[in-house]
This record gives sequence, structure tokens and C-alpha cells, in this order.
Amino acid sequence: MLTLPRGGSLPNPLTEPLADVDFRPRGAFTGVFMPLRFFNTMTRAVEDFTPKDLGRIGIYTCGPTVYNFAHIGNFRAYIFEDLLQRHLEYRGIKVERVMNLTDVDDKTIRGCRAAGVSLAEFTTPFKKAFFEDLDTLRIKRADHFPEATEKIHIDRMISMISDLIAKGHAYRAEDGSVYFRIRSFPAYGQLAHFHLEDLRDGVRVSNDEYDKENAGDFALWKAWDERDGDVAWDSPWGRGRPGWHIECSAMATGLLGPEIDIHCGGEDNIFPHHEAEIAQSECVTGHRFVRLWMHCRHLQVEGTKMAKSAGNFFTLRDLREKGWSGREVRFALISVKYREPLNFTFDGLAAARAALRRLDEWTLRLHELTGADLPEPLDNHTLPLEVFGQSLDDDLNISGALAGLFEVVRATNRSMDAGNLMPGQARFLLEWLDGVHSVLAMEPDEIGIPTEIIALLDERAAARAAKDWQLSDELRDKMLAAGWQVKDTKEGQKPTPASFNL
Ligand code: AMP
Ligand code: ZN
Repeated sequence: MLTLPRGGSLPNPLTEPLADVDFRPRGAFTGVFMPLRFFNTMTRAVEDFTPKDLGRIGIYTCGPTVYNFAHIGNFRAYIFEDLLQRHLEYRGIKVERVMNLTDVDDKTIRGCRAAGVSLAEFTTPFKKAFFEDLDTLRIKRADHFPEATEKIHIDRMISMISDLIAKGHAYRAEDGSVYFRIRSFPAYGQLAHFHLEDLRDGVRVSNDEYDKENAGDFALWKAWDERDGDVAWDSPWGRGRPGWHIECSAMATGLLGPEIDIHCGGEDNIFPHHEAEIAQSECVTGHRFVRLWMHCRHLQVEGTKMAKSAGNFFTLRDLREKGWSGREVRFALISVKYREPLNFTFDGLAAARAALRRLDEWTLRLHELTGADLPEPLDNHTLPLEVFGQSLDDDLNISGALAGLFEVVRATNRSMDAGNLMPGQARFLLEWLDGVHSVLAMEPDEIGIPTEIIALLDERAAARAAKDWQLSDELRDKMLAAGWQVKDTKEGQKPTPASFNL
């Protein structure tokens, strides 16, 4: 096993002064030192991150149950995981990521029965919508999106359950269902931090639809009953379907091996889902299942739990219909640290819009300055360029990272106001910004120029060629009234959406 060198004589490229070393605007990780630290739900402490193998880090994230459109709470979890992956990659680490799709459980079965269609017909549109939403929110695609109903995974679930029965960790009930015997695994409760003894003393554990009501033992295999309709697979215990927990254990270990570097989810996943995943997986493989557990706090909406009945239940589509872009929603969801409560409000979205406009305005100014000049390093001691990456190294401290970013914006805007920023330095900052965007994914949307603006631009070009300055000004005002600002540059007219220049 490869362990990471710590301290000692190795220079830390992220904290050593950078004046006389190769300045790396993207903050790329050198591959020698690893100052990343993350909060581990298992130990409830921020720890140095020590993956199995630096060459490739495996991440498993519990994905959506595809019985409906994912809501913005779900997307807080997926955006936090996206930030984690992108930051690791920013540090030069290769990530192999798995996100499962839960396409068989009580909710999907109920949904397909109510709609009178097959399970696959019912879940397919929600899968498609989920991938569209990932793109809208600029969430990187995982390397694998296993679906619980795929034969290869069902086979693995059945084989794991057989193994658990053979080892005495599971038993078949009279109706053909199979349950995990939690007393056979003394470490049960380690992630949620309770003792098995307490559980036996009457702690109710049944907040998962699949668990037995009056005992901690949870279902690995659910025997078919008529409510399942035609959703069933053959197994050594009769027809039935897998429990939700074994689905994740099978897909995670099947694709990433017995020991996974990082396993993520929302805080509701800690118990019973992830506790059960540990028990099943470790009893089958004999390995520690996960090295680092990371969970994000739940999203609240306007200060309360998101619920359809409270009228504060939003999907991404709802917000898009209200005129918010995916980029704005992403910024609002990413900008609070994953372990802190995030209260989603429309004021918060407006603040995201304002912050992005500031960033866009700064970017435009830099572009206007650069011309064809080559990057030219700045005196980095006057600008906190490293704060962005270093803050994220520290348990994804996004508040610190954004504060660092906007401090660079503020300081260099002042330099530009004073005419002190050189074109090569502007180019350098744009390169640095590319690195920041590789993590935040906040590049401006590609905005097509509407055809009526193109027509006005042509008309204005003709007016200018004819030296009809009055008409030229009138056309410029007309475009401004239509939301487009035009600047005259050496290369000709340059239209930008007026909102960029607020
Ligand atoms: P589900 O589709 O309910 O299985 O949830 C998919 C993912 O979204 C899981 O990782 C959940 O923990 C997470 N999740 C669900 N609700 C919220 C919420 N309100 N805030 C943050 N994450 C959530
Ligand atoms: Zn899961």
C-alpha cells in the first residue's frame, strides 16, 4: 500500500513562498505532498486524507432514486461531491467516480404501479431528466452510473447475500425474505455512533422503509408480494427483489473493489443506509469498506424543511421556470460549506447572480486588456492567489476560497482603475481563473447573439462606414434598450449582454 509522505524535508508547494519557484497558476498538485484534510463522519474529526493509492482515488456517491425529478436538496449533495472531485483533480489527482441510480425500491414500484407501466418505462424519463439536470448544473459525469436493476449488479447482490447467509450474518425468514443479523456484526453503529446494546434497549431504527419494524435487522432480500406486480427476480430464496442497502454495497464493491477511498452522501444516508452498507460489505469482503466518509448537511428552504405541503419544494426545473440559470443555482448551492446548514432563499439566488456579474465584469475587463500578450506573472505576494486552493484543501472550505477569489477581483479591479495592470498580467490572471473555473465551473454561459441584434450590428457597421455617427449612436442606444451593449474595438463592434456590465 502506498502511504503519503508527511512533513519532513519535502517542500509543500502550496504553503511555501512561491517567489523563487515555478509559479503554477492552476495550483496543480506536484504529486509529492498531500496537504488535503477532510472531515471523516466515522471519526467525527478533520483528518489528513490518505488514499489507498495516489494514482487513482475511488469515490462512491449514493445517487438518486429515480421515481421523480431530483429536488434542489439532492443537488446540494451532488454539487458538494462535484466540488470534491474537481478539487482533487485540480490538485492533479485522478478520480474514478461511481454514482448509482436506485431504480428499484418501494417508491419506484409504487410509482410504476400507479402509472400502470413497467418499472423501466416509469424510471426512464426520470433518469433522462436527471442527466439533463446534471448538465444544467455543470456537474461532471461520473465514470460509472450503475443501475440497480442491471443483471450484473443483481447477480452480485444475490451472491453477496448467499455469502452472508453462509457466514451466519443473514437468515431467511418464513416468507422468503432475507435479513441481516446485526448482532453478528459487533461494530454495527460505528458510523452513526451508537452501541448495539443501546439499540437492543429499544432505540427505534425503522426510519427506512425496508427495515423491519421491531428489530434492527434489515432486509437484504424482500420476498415478492402482490404490491410488487411484475417487479421480481429469481433467487435461491424464491422470487423477490433486493433491499436498498445491498444495492449500494454490491455496486460499490463491484466497481471500486473491497476498499473504497471516499464514500459520500447526504446526512440522512448515515443511518441506516451507510451503517448497513458497512455491515454487509465488511462481512462479505473482510476488508474495511471505506477509508473516508463524507456527508453534507441537508438543504433547508426559506428556513424550513423542504416539503411539498409547505409549498417550498423546488426542483431545478421549477427554478429555471422562474428565470434562474443553472449557473446561478449552482453558485447558490456551492457557496456554503457542505458541513454547514444551507438555507436556500431567493435572496440567496439574487446574491449569487450579483456575485457572478461581478466575476463576469472582471473577466471582461481582463479580456479587454490582454490583447495578444503572453502571460506575465504578478508579484504574487500582493495577491492572495493561493487562498482559493488552500482553503479547499482544508475540508472544502468554500467560503475561504470564494473570499480569496473575490479579494483578487477587488484588488485587480483597483489596479485596472488606476491603469496599473499590464496586458500580460491580465493574461496571467485569466489563466489562473481557468484553474478556478475547473473547480467551480462558473464560466459565463455561452450566449448566442439574437438575430435582431445581428441585424442592428450590420446596420450600424454600414452607418459607421458611411460616417453617419448620429445613426450609429441611435442604433447603439436601440441595442442597449434591447439588453446589448456595444463597444467599438480595433477588431470592430463588440456586443455583450448589458447585464455583464452592471
Ligand atoms: P434520494 O433520491 O432520496 O435517495 O437522495 C439522493 C441523495 O440526495 C442522497 O445522497 C441524499 O442524502 C441527498 N439528499 C436528499 N435530500 C437532501 C437535502 N434536503 N439536502 C441535501 N441532500 C439531500
Ligand atoms: Zn447508497
